[in-house]
Amino acid sequence: MNKESEEQIRGIFQQQKDFFKTNQTKDIEFRKKQLRNFRTVFTNHTDALCEALETDLGKSRKEAEYVEIQIVLSELDYLLENIDEWAKPTLVESKPHPSGAEVISKIIYESYGVNYIIGPFNYPVQLTFSPLIGALIAGNTAIIKPSENTPHVAKVLEDIVKESFEESYVAVVQGAIEENTLLLSLPFDYIFFTGSPNVGKIVMKAAAEQLIPLTLELGGKSPTIVHHDADLDKAVARISYGKWINCGQTCVAPDYIYIHESVKDLFIEKFKAYLKTTYPDGTLGKIGKIVSQNQIKQLAGYLEASPEKVIYGGKYDLETRHFEATLMDNVTWSDKVMQQEIFGPILPIMTYNDINDALEEINNRPKPLALYVFTESQELADDVLNRTTSGDAEINSTIIHVGSHYLPFGGVGTSGMGKYHGKFSFENFSHSRSVLQVK
Ligand code: NAD
Repeated sequence: MNKESEEQIRGIFQQQKDFFKTNQTKDIEFRKKQLRNFRTVFTNHTDALCEALETDLGKSRKEAEYVEIQIVLSELDYLLENIDEWAKPTLVESKPHPSGAEVISKIIYESYGVNYIIGPFNYPVQLTFSPLIGALIAGNTAIIKPSENTPHVAKVLEDIVKESFEESYVAVVQGAIEENTLLLSLPFDYIFFTGSPNVGKIVMKAAAEQLIPLTLELGGKSPTIVHHDADLDKAVARISYGKWINCGQTCVAPDYIYIHESVKDLFIEKFKAYLKTTYPDGTLGKIGKIVSQNQIKQLAGYLEASPEKVIYGGKYDLETRHFEATLMDNVTWSDKVMQQEIFGPILPIMTYNDINDALEEINNRPKPLALYVFTESQELADDVLNRTTSGDAEINSTIIHVGSHYLPFGGVGTSGMGKYHGKFSFENFSHSRSVLQVK
């Protein structure tokens, strides 16, 4: 990065610090007006966003609208609808004052100040703009750094931000590690990072240097348990949806299957039949693109390490960055594919005879972002939830919890810290300040 770009980044940061001090963002009407304007500009860029998503990630128009555009709009409308209520101070009970004087206790929701939002590549619109609107509804200013791995989308995000806001309020900085390292050295008031656990550690170390509060939205290997009493047809369809969407590059995608030995063969038979019916021309090029050739090579490496375990799919095209929906059977924890988050359309299948063994293996590993269990028994589902942990969980379903603004979304331990969406976004981006007043 040259001196000029560095000065420019520092300049934007200072402008935002100065703007925040004017207190204009404290006004709820100001926030609503800005976000309504953003809504119009964002909607006007739907075509540009969809085209960029197609170029960078091979997302179909339908998928782009559903998992990127509509999620941002529905979140935004919900925030706008409820902000007046949420922003009100909460009156709480008071302990008596020693003098007997009247005491009033309340919690006020304070904006942090200048926020830094770092976006990932996989849902580059939703995962950059959902945190942004959360930060703004809570009265903050923000600098956003979109992922450098989806450059066409990053450019449209910048256009939208430039057309919607003054730079002293919201700005986009394009770049990669160098820019991120500089930004992380600045005294932001809040950092919101979405990405891998490894980079999460770098971000958290940088935040620790200045004791900057932060949210980490990370990833990991999300287990999917299929018990012998599960409705296998539903399980196949719902796992299939969560796994192949965005070519497996979804932070909460089912990473692997843990299935009861007694139903495994039937499950695989049904899974293959389902894939053949849903994708009669095969899955290559039908489920999106892998973000880079390097990642294709990484995924191919999992298959090359155990070729005899590939029972469906397995083909890829380095040039077009397409990869088939792939099933692997008889997988064990020592296989290469089980050593890190897959982040691609490979679904390893492992079995258990005793659910206790499966839960122990899951619990011996880093805390996942999501855990899915398929069973017709409420008792078993409750037991699994009671004896495991994960950021969030679903019973007889996968990944759709992320789209609900009624549920807080986020990880635990190595899969992240902090929760957002809906009211939880407002809370995440606000400092709850206790105020005690004596009459
Ligand atoms: P990533 O960690 O590689 O990159 C995220 C951001 O960090 C990018 O903006 C990038 O420029 C920056 N970055 C990368 N290397 C850096 C370094 N050494 N120093 C400073 N900054 C650096 O993540 P990704 O590949 O874009 O996304 C995939 C990961 O993100 C997966 O692990 C996935 O599970 C996770 N993810 C989590 C969520 C969630 O909401 N919890 C959502 C999507 C993705």
